[in-house]
Amino acid sequence: MKNSNYLDRWNDVIQNNYGTPALALVKGKGIVVTDADGKKYLDFLGGIATNVLGHAHPAIVKAVSQQINTLGHVSNFYAHPHVVELAEKLKSFTGDSDAKVFFAQSGAEANEAALKLSRRTGRSRVVATQGAFHGRTMGALSLTGQPSKREPFLPLLKGVKHVAYGDLEAMRRAVNRKTAMVIIEPIMGEAGVIVPPPGYLQGLREICDTTGALLVVDCIQTGMGRTGDWFGYEYSGITPDVITLAKGLGGGLPLGAMIALGASAYLFQPGDHGSTFGGNPVTTAAALAVIKVIEKENLLLAAVKHGNYLLQEIAQMQGVKEVRGAGLLIGIEFDSEIAAKVMIDMRAHGVLINAATANTVRIAPALNISAAQVSKFVEILGKVLSDVK
Ligand SMILES: *Cc1c(COP(=O)(O)O)cnc(C)c1O
Repeated sequence: MKNSNYLDRWNDVIQNNYGTPALALVKGKGIVVTDADGKKYLDFLGGIATNVLGHAHPAIVKAVSQQINTLGHVSNFYAHPHVVELAEKLKSFTGDSDAKVFFAQSGAEANEAALKLSRRTGRSRVVATQGAFHGRTMGALSLTGQPSKREPFLPLLKGVKHVAYGDLEAMRRAVNRKTAMVIIEPIMGEAGVIVPPPGYLQGLREICDTTGALLVVDCIQTGMGRTGDWFGYEYSGITPDVITLAKGLGGGLPLGAMIALGASAYLFQPGDHGSTFGGNPVTTAAALAVIKVIEKENLLLAAVKHGNYLLQEIAQMQGVKEVRGAGLLIGIEFDSEIAAKVMIDMRAHGVLINAATANTVRIAPALNISAAQVSKFVEILGKVLSDVK
């Protein structure tokens, strides 16, 4: 079967919300994937910052196989070992002795859970930021600050205000004692890897402390080691009230989480929220395997080391206006709108990346990438950029 065959069949039976994919992928090992025509690629997108250990990692394969062979699903009427162990791990990473976890399957659901949690403060207003991406379900979409994604689906939730990202004065004007929560990406991923100015998260912490609004940090893209920390906000030194996770958490299996810290850990009461699959034995087994490998192989440090090398090398390339990010979440902004062309040329040269905006591409490879694979990427990108018209 060829790529073209799968893409034709996709178009026949899959709704048109994604458009036609570029390729059909049939297998992967580490950061190399193979398409239906047999061509191999270096996967520098990682399922959109999701495959933190690449493809078919033996630790994930083993954990998932053993678990599905032991106990596949139980619902939340029953506890099981992995859900408890994973929540304990995540709690330990927050450093907060009150932290409690709610598990879901996706990022949108993690943010929906945060939204519902914030209603339990007795307040209902929300302040979010322009350009931010928080998901596509109606509640999460109400938080997402991208007009093109919102406008076809108005009216969305009432009482949500969007202010400019990075602008503390705008935030100070918008947040008051009626605000239930402020939600923020510590680095905006979908918007093109936008890093806020120094002091921004600390300023938000102060604003939320003064007004009593919950500070929700959406670490769905920046979490699980991607930026060199377990959670993408840690560079700032603040403690948030709520952390949301998904993408990298399950290492490619569908798992999301909403972690409430401090007093907010006690807001949900029995019956307030739920999910049939949330905290499923198999997905939590995968997440525990991911965490163990990251710890054992020191991949937080590796992400920073490879990331710094990439930032330094890419900054010198032709046509690059700015290269930014943290760890292995990197946005490369060009001085013209060539991002789609660069993505296509890179694919032709056997590298998968994504055009986040018209002038910015994003890379988010697995954290266990090798130095040789990083160098290969630098070599190919340099060549593509010197040839691109
Ligand atoms: C991807 C993403 C989401 C949505 O996650 P889904 O699993 O697609 O629902 C939310 N917030 C951020 C920051 C993301 O990158």
